[in-house]
Amino acid sequence: MDDLSRIRNIGVAAHIDAGKTTTTERLLFYSGTIHKMGDVDDGTTITDFDAEEQQRGITIYSAAVTLHWRDCRINLIDTPGHVDFTAEVERSLRVLDGAVVVFDAYEGVEAQSETVWRQADKYKVPRICFINKMDKTGANFAGAVRSIEERLHARPIQIQVPIGEENSFRGFVDLIAMEGVLCEGERDGSTWSGGPTPAELRDAALAARHALDERVAELDDELMAHYLEHETLTADQLRAGLRKGTISLRCQPVLCGSALKYVGVQAVLDAVCDFLPSPLDVPPIEGADPNDPDKRLKRKCSPDEPLAAIVFKVVADPHGDLYFVRVYSGVLKANSRVNNVGRRRKENVPRLYRMFAKRRDQIEQAFCGDIVAVIGLKETLTGDTLCGPNNPILLERIEFPETVISMAIEPRSSADRDKLLAALKTLTRADPTFAFKEDADTGQIVISGMGELHLEVICHRLERDLNVATKTGKPRVAYRETITRSAEAEGRIHRQAGGKAQFAAVTVRVEPFTPAPGEPLLRFASRLPPGKIRPVWLPAIEAGCRGAAQNGALGGYPLINVQVTLLDAEESAEESSEVAFEIAAAHAVQRAMEQAGPVLLEPIMKVEVVTPEDYFGAINGDLNARRAIITNTSMRGRNHVIDAHAPLSEMFGYATQMRSLSQGRASYSMEPSHYDPMPPDRARKVLGML
Ligand code: GDP
Ligand code: MG
Repeated sequence: MDDLSRIRNIGVAAHIDAGKTTTTERLLFYSGTIHKMGDVDDGTTITDFDAEEQQRGITIYSAAVTLHWRDCRINLIDTPGHVDFTAEVERSLRVLDGAVVVFDAYEGVEAQSETVWRQADKYKVPRICFINKMDKTGANFAGAVRSIEERLHARPIQIQVPIGEENSFRGFVDLIAMEGVLCEGERDGSTWSGGPTPAELRDAALAARHALDERVAELDDELMAHYLEHETLTADQLRAGLRKGTISLRCQPVLCGSALKYVGVQAVLDAVCDFLPSPLDVPPIEGADPNDPDKRLKRKCSPDEPLAAIVFKVVADPHGDLYFVRVYSGVLKANSRVNNVGRRRKENVPRLYRMFAKRRDQIEQAFCGDIVAVIGLKETLTGDTLCGPNNPILLERIEFPETVISMAIEPRSSADRDKLLAALKTLTRADPTFAFKEDADTGQIVISGMGELHLEVICHRLERDLNVATKTGKPRVAYRETITRSAEAEGRIHRQAGGKAQFAAVTVRVEPFTPAPGEPLLRFASRLPPGKIRPVWLPAIEAGCRGAAQNGALGGYPLINVQVTLLDAEESAEESSEVAFEIAAAHAVQRAMEQAGPVLLEPIMKVEVVTPEDYFGAINGDLNARRAIITNTSMRGRNHVIDAHAPLSEMFGYATQMRSLSQGRASYSMEPSHYDPMPPDRARKVLGML
């Protein structure tokens, strides 16, 4: 099947525990991809295939699986729900055309749903909403829809009315077909029946249908004209209007259900086919011309265009690493040669696979619009563009946030040191938000990531999957440095090394700079007058500058939000070398940074705490003592919601403290927000100057 209009590339996103995994599991089951229903609570679901996730009951590593529904092929990317893994969500959204956002009918919009929603706005991803857990005591469909409208400033359009509530919830009225759907036939809900609207709901359903007609009519002039004349729209008009409105991001159809109790999930699959875009409905992908960075190139989703594809995920697999690829234009063929322009490498694409939940099918080619896995790439990493050998294009790189927390790590037995380093390398390949560094002087190995849980998970993986037992130090804040004014300096070396003279001189300017979203935090530019030195030295100069910036001017922390400009350089025909230029450039940057008013930056976290009234005062007071700035307080149901920004350094062990302050009743979520300059007295403490 290669009718592109019948492909849906979608993700399911949600706040942790809203029911994303359960919903995904049911989607796979009803579409016949798996034959036995799994349960999150006994660790048997398919997408949570990582044992770590099963233990914790959360989804960390996303996997792409294909399923079929009606005449559509749905490529489903499982996005993680935990706050420490926001980057994973962001990365998936980048390659998706549409998303199902799952909400808890009792909680409504939660912190993480808000984050996901904002990211989906950023990447212009059309959405449908699934209000899950309608069976739960206190479930409130209208309240959840209202919170989507108010907290997310969205335009949710209700296309169903629930039948029964809480314990007795058993189906819904489909407002488009105007029929009642009861999902109680078989225990697993795989048979369901459409019928008349239950009598007691007839008035409510008619009113809701009327509201639906009106809201859809508002989306389109032609529909409005019809509506004004006939005071109603037909089912086909509603579907077409909702589809158009959803794809142009002007509305979000809302459905209700209970994944756990097998209610309403087939309707979600229908809605995916009906309302979410096919690859043909989204704008052509844009990229840069690698031969001329100022030129923008566009590629349509057409098999006749040259190949453009992005690798968005690498998953370690016993049969060889799986490189998950979204093909945007052209055709990706097995046994072909492609260009990885970003790395200036040619790559062989030996084998292609379509991934199902429990099996994979080897395929010969993947058309534009599809998501498939490649095995056998050698030099490609997450975020790289693959394109045809004669038509280079560089798609925008997937951006990853800076790591905010780090921890020393060593093998339990020193004989395992090389094994540990190899394992860490494997992990960084699969997870771009994870990094490690080996101190050249002390040999200490430091790993860094997005939060305490992230590093904890990494250590478990080292031990369990990669078989290296480790000891770790205390988690530490990953500080950064920046400068407050611009400065220029020269680095000059002229010395004897092993009987050979070495000469190079480099002058640079460093200045504060605010990167645009997605732009690297350190920018290097050359304003060298032409003909001053031979261009062969430029890469060494850039490497020297970057190396020095990486080591900071105060406490060895990487410099960010800085532009380094090469102003001048001198060479000697006899005595210059790459090493000499690299050292001279590093000296120049080092001296310039020292004169540029360097300051220490600390990561600030965005925190949301949800607490019953009784503990509000205690939680608030504790946050204040942690240097938090409360940005908003509001009510969600009977609970207070506190939004705050707080320095990560003050938030260690917060989970325990918050639990004891609220007798376990409050909950919170936290994610990196930005970097702020540290108060000088605290900075001095960090730098060991007190
Ligand atoms: P995720 O963290 O978003 O992937 O959520 P899970 O699917 O892991 O579900 C979290 C918890 O909510 C589990 O204990 C599920 O059994 C439960 N759950 C999921 N869907 C429903 C539902 O429709 N109703 C109720 N009452 N519980 C649900
Ligand atoms: Mg889950």
